[in-house]
Amino acid sequence: MSDRITKVIVLGGGSAGFMAALALKTRLPHLDVTVIRSRDIGIIGVGEGSTPTLTSFLHGYLRVGLRRFIEVAQPTWKLGLKFLWGPRPHFWYPFGPGLDTKLRNLPRAVGFFCRDDVEDATPLSAMMARDKVFPRAQGGGPEMHPAVAYHFENEKFVRFLEGAAGALGVRLVDDTVLDTVRGGEGVAGLRLASGAVESADLYVDCSGFASVLLGGAMGEPFVDFGASLFCDRAVVGGWDRGPGEPIKPYTTCETMDSGWCWQIEHERRVNRGYVYASAFAADDEAERQFRAANPRVGPTRVVRFKSGRYRNRWVGNVVAVGNASGFVEPLEATALGVIAAQSEALADTLWGSDRRPTPTQRRLVNDAHARHWDAIRGFIATHYRFNTRLDTPFWRHCRAETDLAGATPVVGYFRENGPDNFWEPGLIDPFDEFKFRGYATLLVGQSVPYGNPYDPPPAERSAWEALRRSNAAAASRAMTVEESLAVLRSPTWKWTS
Ligand SMILES: Cc1cc2nc3c(=O)[nH]c(=O)nc-3n(C[C@H](O)[C@H](O)[C@H](O)COP(=O)(O)OP(=O)(O)OC[C@H]3O[C@@H](n4cnc5c(N)ncnc54)[C@H](O)[C@@H]3O)c2cc1C
Repeated sequence: MSDRITKVIVLGGGSAGFMAALALKTRLPHLDVTVIRSRDIGIIGVGEGSTPTLTSFLHGYLRVGLRRFIEVAQPTWKLGLKFLWGPRPHFWYPFGPGLDTKLRNLPRAVGFFCRDDVEDATPLSAMMARDKVFPRAQGGGPEMHPAVAYHFENEKFVRFLEGAAGALGVRLVDDTVLDTVRGGEGVAGLRLASGAVESADLYVDCSGFASVLLGGAMGEPFVDFGASLFCDRAVVGGWDRGPGEPIKPYTTCETMDSGWCWQIEHERRVNRGYVYASAFAADDEAERQFRAANPRVGPTRVVRFKSGRYRNRWVGNVVAVGNASGFVEPLEATALGVIAAQSEALADTLWGSDRRPTPTQRRLVNDAHARHWDAIRGFIATHYRFNTRLDTPFWRHCRAETDLAGATPVVGYFRENGPDNFWEPGLIDPFDEFKFRGYATLLVGQSVPYGNPYDPPPAERSAWEALRRSNAAAASRAMTVEESLAVLRSPTWKWTS
């Protein structure tokens, strides 16, 4: 792009639109940023679990204060996931250290000691097992730590982002784009339902699955991940939390006949969603299975999606963020973290080029986009390929047909060498957010066999048992979500941000 960018239009006011607008205004306060969003179309309303990437984006990059965020977005905290998946009764996927961790008094990574039992293998999995979220600090309050993510209702999160964007001077237009005016480097203007035409130097497409500008006006091809990921719909519902129903500090992922079911924890609501493959269960059959497993679910709705990404996300003067750029089904809740990374990359590129992005920068933005989504594809495919919990047509198909794509080398390495992270630099792409840690935790959790199982001598076994007892004891002293929220709301709590 030859001229300096002075005006940006962000099309879409969901989480992607406001996160992108906030990143731009934080990095380039004098940039003219307008968000156009359609109240008639609305937002997708799912996107309720996150990863620590979002936490550091919000409170690090955007410098969002915790107090206001907790008041408006009303999050609860998430330390990882509980999988009802594979042959064990369950296993934990913590955001902190995983099953590739090496400790001073054990000669091998902890995953080698988990053949029979994975309980209390890491500090955060011991906390999750006891519904605990933060260690108790000396003053009695929660000791916050960075390995934490959030659960929040999508509407409340977007309301928070909208307020923060307004405070930074983002202009908001409530209107619907009916058509694009083509010209120059791609898009020359947006024709709105009100009759107005809005134009800018750069258009950030955050229009969700519609991908109005990137996939629509620019005709960028879509790279389909259908050979690896077979689910394409979710039936979503929930219930009001009952008295004594604990707020769990993790997302639960439960194997179902034709997919899996999430459970996400809000303070007053429990949110459930059954992600399924329409080739194996029609909508009414999925609804029946969902209700049979969750009798307290109220009204439901079906959300359709397709896993894949656009070949490039920056084409001409259009750059996409969020679902408009790509999406991989919601296992591991990666999308908000991708939106954070994409928003940062865009804002940093404009800042670093003094608002004249160069061809090499744009090529690297596209390269990062492809590698990030492709890494997520491989990791999520690994969940499906090895889940032996149910013997239904869907799961038989997954075990036989799932294409591991980019995950093939790391899974092959694990099958020969187990959860030893020595060769991580040669195996894991820097854009793979799961790292070897994620693979080790997932594959040991699913009891996937490997070539050199370790039989620890008695002294190591007792060191391992002592370690698990110490994780359990520390977790028992920690605080629940309810206790932590009560302290933060008490008049004596001193906010630092
Ligand atoms: C079943 C399911 C579960 C998911 N769960 C998670 C999860 O737990 N965690 C996670 O991180 N992600 C999850 N996601 C992904 C989630 O959708 C994204 O994280 C994110 O919330 C969506 O953001 P978005 O802004 O890209 O899209 P949207 O919320 O759809 O926003 C699109 C915006 O564009 C506007 N728009 C569209 N067309 C026009 C037009 N013509 N004119 C004007 N405005 C227009 C809309 O009005 C809206 O404001 C899930 C997705 C699915 C399908």
